[in-house]
Amino acid sequence: MGGEEKKPLLLHICCGPCGSGCLPRLTDRRVVLYYSNSNIATREEYEKRLEQVRILAAYWQTELLTDPYDHDAWLRHIQTLENAGSFPEKGPRCTLCFGFSLQRTALMAEQMGFPFATTLTVSPHKNSCVIFDEGAKYPLFEAIDFKKKDGFLLSIRESTRLGLYRQRFCGCEFSLAASGS
Ligand code: SF4
Repeated sequence: MGGEEKKPLLLHICCGPCGSGCLPRLTDRRVVLYYSNSNIATREEYEKRLEQVRILAAYWQTELLTDPYDHDAWLRHIQTLENAGSFPEKGPRCTLCFGFSLQRTALMAEQMGFPFATTLTVSPHKNSCVIFDEGAKYPLFEAIDFKKKDGFLLSIRESTRLGLYRQRFCGCEFSLAASGS
């Protein structure tokens, strides 16, 4: 007799490199990727990161859904806290930013009837507890901490192996300015 089949997972993916450290940990599940990244400063950068996600999805033969880019809505969501993010990605602006993408992912998860998680937790620059607090607002959220067991190192190895573009800033214009790029 086989064990209980694991539920499929809607995985919010912020970029190819972060996703490359998460997908190897989910080989026992059907994963659907959800690229929801209206926090990215420009459409050009949004598309550049999406292209890397497409490469990753093709490699893992994983379904990929995309959320339309709406940076104006993101800016409205974080307004008054524009300058309240610290570098690296911690602070009240970043908490709102996580909440924005997770809320949109939660909506999609509800439509699909899937639990969901996020690749955001693989980054050592982001506080997984803060991400989990935001995710816990939604009943379908699964608190998976991808940075455990050297998840970030895995993401560096895998993204290098697959030749993925690794961006030098988190995503928004504020992180771009702080990076000095
Ligand atoms: S630094 Fe990153 S996490 Fe923070 S608000 Fe900008 S895009 Fe979002």
